[in-house]
Amino acid sequence: MSAGPASDVLVVGAGVIGASAAFWLAELGAGRVTVVDRGGAGSGMSARSSALVRMHYTFPPEVDLAVLSDAMFDAWTDLTGRPACVRRTGFVRLVHPHEEGLLRANVAMQRRRGARAEVIGPAELARIAPGMRADGVGCAAWEPRGGYGDGAVVAGDLLGAARERGVRYLPRTPVRALVTARGRVTGALTGAGTLHAGTILLACGVWTPPLLATAGVELPIENELHKVAIVAHRPGAGARVACIDSVTATYFRPESGGTRTLIGAFTGPRGADPDAVPESAAPGEVAGLVGAAARRVPALAEAGIARGVTGVYDMTPDARPMLGPVPGADGLILAAGFSGMGFKIAPAVGEALAGLITTGRASHVDLWPFRPGRFADGEPIRPEHAYCDD
Ligand SMILES: Cc1cc2nc3c(=O)[nH]c(=O)nc-3n(C[C@H](O)[C@H](O)[C@H](O)COP(=O)(O)OP(=O)(O)OC[C@H]3O[C@@H](n4cnc5c(N)ncnc54)[C@H](O)[C@@H]3O)c2cc1C
Repeated sequence: MSAGPASDVLVVGAGVIGASAAFWLAELGAGRVTVVDRGGAGSGMSARSSALVRMHYTFPPEVDLAVLSDAMFDAWTDLTGRPACVRRTGFVRLVHPHEEGLLRANVAMQRRRGARAEVIGPAELARIAPGMRADGVGCAAWEPRGGYGDGAVVAGDLLGAARERGVRYLPRTPVRALVTARGRVTGALTGAGTLHAGTILLACGVWTPPLLATAGVELPIENELHKVAIVAHRPGAGARVACIDSVTATYFRPESGGTRTLIGAFTGPRGADPDAVPESAAPGEVAGLVGAAARRVPALAEAGIARGVTGVYDMTPDARPMLGPVPGADGLILAAGFSGMGFKIAPAVGEALAGLITTGRASHVDLWPFRPGRFADGEPIRPEHAYCDD
């Protein structure tokens, strides 16, 4: 049974990645594009994202993706017809004191690639982020245009704009299996029949491995559980800027109107089943996180835990996404394994993938280092100036 006319491109997953790819496929004239999701736009991990926006990365091509995405966020209304979607609070990166030389090298590299970033000292840090302890800090990376967004909004904006450009959208349509014929992936089996397509883009985040398995493909993507605390406090008594801090192993940012701060951790336990993880975490489960962040922003020690939320990262062995053709499965393009960084790079990733699908080549960013086959090739990404917790 066939579920409607064949598509030139079928995008499985309407999170920030699938929605962005659909938007750019329509922009680049990819023909008949269909997006299918088992739920709706942004109903996966995009809606649970902390959604920090920054350009501070250690691997040059991921800086390129972040810089390009940032420009797209700046041009959001022209691009999508929707209101601006990033709150520009500013962003600070703090590393272990013995890695400050690496931070300087990384900021220099980021600036060469167009990032609005600079190295600041402790006095400047105290001025920019009052309430944040600067003792023990030799230097920090500062991005005045960093901040945060909302994954559900971005996925919805991009999907809406894609649909206005002719993309077909099938919500509440789970794909049960990929359909293959003579070594080529030719469609996706749904409850309503098979959706046939010339190219299939798999953008299912943490739900990717079981779908890949239906095409006989196994790639190293592991799920990792993360818990996030939202704390309530007096106006201004929490985080003033978005920050990633290696010393306390936390990240934090303002949330809603200066009386809430969001706090997350760098790592979590592996092997989480995303369908079995409760969406909320009890205050006791995130209290340790708040205590750790309070070592950097002491006022947070007095903040009350308003709620705890959970989410799951799709981790690869080098903590970078897998983008591009899947070896051994012609017709299948993968965009998964974002390892906790997919929100801020989604606009540029979508454009790069759409370029790859329509012309065989991503126009602005070299996707080759991110190819899904790099681990089998023995070529994981190893940045020159990586941090110990990169
Ligand atoms: C707690 C948390 C904090 C984060 N913080 C940040 C951050 O600060 N900055 C940042 O840049 N990134 C962050 N991330 C990462 C970022 O949110 C993700 O990388 C990004 O949202 C992933 O988008 P996606 O489209 O790949 O996946 P998803 O948003 O999960 O979308 C996948 C879609 O596929 C659909 N789907 C799954 N299986 C099927 C199927 N069988 N058939 C049809 N549809 C299917 C799902 O319904 C879902 O809508 C964070 C993530 C989490 C969980």
